[in-house]
Amino acid sequence: MTASLPINLGGTSVKWGIPVHRAPADMDIRSMRSPRSSGEFQAMLRHIKQDFGTTPDAVAMGFPGPVGADCALTQACTLWPDEDLRDFDVMQEIRTVFPRTDIHVINDVSAYGSFLLERGETDFCVLNIGSGVGSKTYANGIEINGPTARGGEIGHWRDPGVPAELRCDCGETGHIGAISSGRGVQRFAAWRARRDAEGFAHSALGRIAGAPADITTHALVTAIRGGDAFARDILYDAMAPLGRAAALLHVAIGCERFYLVGGFAEALMSDLPPALAASAAVHCWQQHFDWTSAFRVIEDEVRTSLLGLQYHARRAS
Ligand SMILES: [Zn+2]
Repeated sequence: MTASLPINLGGTSVKWGIPVHRAPADMDIRSMRSPRSSGEFQAMLRHIKQDFGTTPDAVAMGFPGPVGADCALTQACTLWPDEDLRDFDVMQEIRTVFPRTDIHVINDVSAYGSFLLERGETDFCVLNIGSGVGSKTYANGIEINGPTARGGEIGHWRDPGVPAELRCDCGETGHIGAISSGRGVQRFAAWRARRDAEGFAHSALGRIAGAPADITTHALVTAIRGGDAFARDILYDAMAPLGRAAALLHVAIGCERFYLVGGFAEALMSDLPPALAASAAVHCWQQHFDWTSAFRVIEDEVRTSLLGLQYHARRAS
């Protein structure tokens, strides 16, 4: 039996699915550390090919950066922050390892969009809160990317609420990705803990982490989920810029549903939507809109993205 091979390349790890039955959802999910440079890309693919064990019908990859016409790349700042990818031919790189296979490369956040389209959703925005912040917006079932695929990079919108000391993975400051991403919240928490040493020392977060420099996203999630007010305040302030951006999307194009994906979102589950809703609700015209149900975390998000890649390959071929 052959099947498509979905590969979700993230800033930290790459995940892929091995089919175990004919139903698309039945797959073993494997992962490894993401390649540290584009020079390691083919070695990663060879490892995945060997693990897959046979020649797939199609390879469908979600890539963490803008994907333009003919799969032209520009950069992938959570993955290879210092590389200019305009001369990196991702299709040819994949074709070298999988020479007799249909190849599809889409943005990693589009993979979730593909899943939701398959489910019959037509008007929504996916917000990926992982290593960075990514977005994809859909209207009438069409992904809105603009003429040169610059849409979906909401993480690089500059917000005055982002402390200047925090740096986005793209290298700039003031960007939403510098504070509202998983890595960003972690850096922001350390920044806040250093400025409020007493509050930190008396918090659950302080007891779990010990020192500001030792705050991990895991410690943050544990403290927030446990009801620690210090950690909760950090989460609400870190999500405020992203909530503002969602409010702008709402009044600009009428988007009413925001799906939250990414490792940090999945770890926080029901604790994340209220933090975004609190900010969005005060930054746009209310008109009785229910922000508390506008944000929803997608469960089993890795499987969701891999399924979305499979659906995309099936629709495109
Ligand atoms: Zn940025």
